[in-house]
Amino acid sequence: MDAGGAAGMRLGVDVGGSTVKWVILGETSEVIDSGAVPTPSGPDEVVELVGGLVRQGVGSIGIGLPGHVDRAAGIALFVPNPPGEWTGHPIGLALGERTGLPVAVVNDARAFALAELRTGAARELSDVLFAVLGTGIGGAVALGGRILAGPRDNLGEVGHITVDADGPPCCCGNRGCVETYAAGPGIVRGLDGFATAAAVAAAARAGHPAAREAMSRAGRALGVALGDAMALLGIGTVVVGGGVAGSLDLMLTAMREEFERRRPLIGDVAVLPAALGSRAGAIGAALYGGEP
Ligand SMILES: [Zn+2]
Repeated sequence: MDAGGAAGMRLGVDVGGSTVKWVILGETSEVIDSGAVPTPSGPDEVVELVGGLVRQGVGSIGIGLPGHVDRAAGIALFVPNPPGEWTGHPIGLALGERTGLPVAVVNDARAFALAELRTGAARELSDVLFAVLGTGIGGAVALGGRILAGPRDNLGEVGHITVDADGPPCCCGNRGCVETYAAGPGIVRGLDGFATAAAVAAAARAGHPAAREAMSRAGRALGVALGDAMALLGIGTVVVGGGVAGSLDLMLTAMREEFERRRPLIGDVAVLPAALGSRAGAIGAALYGGEP
C-alpha cells in the first residue's frame, strides 16, 4: 500500500451492548473496510480488539461508547450496557499506549449525528436535531454545522424529555421519559405475547389493534419530545435512526399531529430517516478521531 496515500486513514469503532462495529475511512471519508464482532468481556479486552484492527496507514482512532464520557480525558464515565466494568476506565489512554495513535473517546449518539451530518441524511444541512431509537433513545443537536457537546458532553439527550410526569419509571431516575414509550422495551410494555418492538411493528402492519395503538403511542411521545426540543432550539429538521427507526412510518401520523400543534413555533418539520444504517456510529467515531 502506498504509505503517502494511506496516511489519512481513520479507524472508527462503535461499542454496543452486544456488538462492536468498526470501519476504516479513506481520505475523503469513504468506507474502505468494515466489520462487526461480538462485544468482548470488558474494556481491557476492547482495547486489545481495537489494537488488532489497526493496520498500516491508519493515523487515528475514534471510539464511540453508549453512555457518558469525558472526551478531553478519554475516560468512560457512565457506560452501563456493554459487559465489564467501564466506570472510570481510561480507555483513550490505554488505546493510545497500545497503538501509539491519537484516540478520541465520544458518545455514540454524537458520533451517529456527526456521521449523518457530514456524509448522511443531513449532508448540506447545518441545524438539525438527531434521535437514535433503540434499546434506549439517544440524541444530539447540530447548530451552525457543528455537533454541540455542552459543558458535560451530554447535550442532546432527547430520550429523557418528560412526556408524562406520572408515567413509567425510566433508567435515568425520572418518570415518563419519551424513552419509556418509544424505545424498544417501551413499545413492548403492556402488550401480552410480544417479545420485541419488531414483532409489535409486524403485528401493527397486519392490523392488530393493540399493536397499532402501541406504535401510535410511541409516535405521540416522540412528537411531544422532538416537537418540544425543536421549539426550544428553533430547528425544523429531525434525523431519526437506530433499529426502531425501521418502524418510523407506523409512528409518523401520531408524531406529525404533535408537530402540527406546534406549527407556530416550528413550522413545517422535515423528518429524515438516517441514511448510513448500522455503521453510522463507527463512521462518526472515525470522523471525531481524525479531527485536530
Ligand atoms: Zn429518562
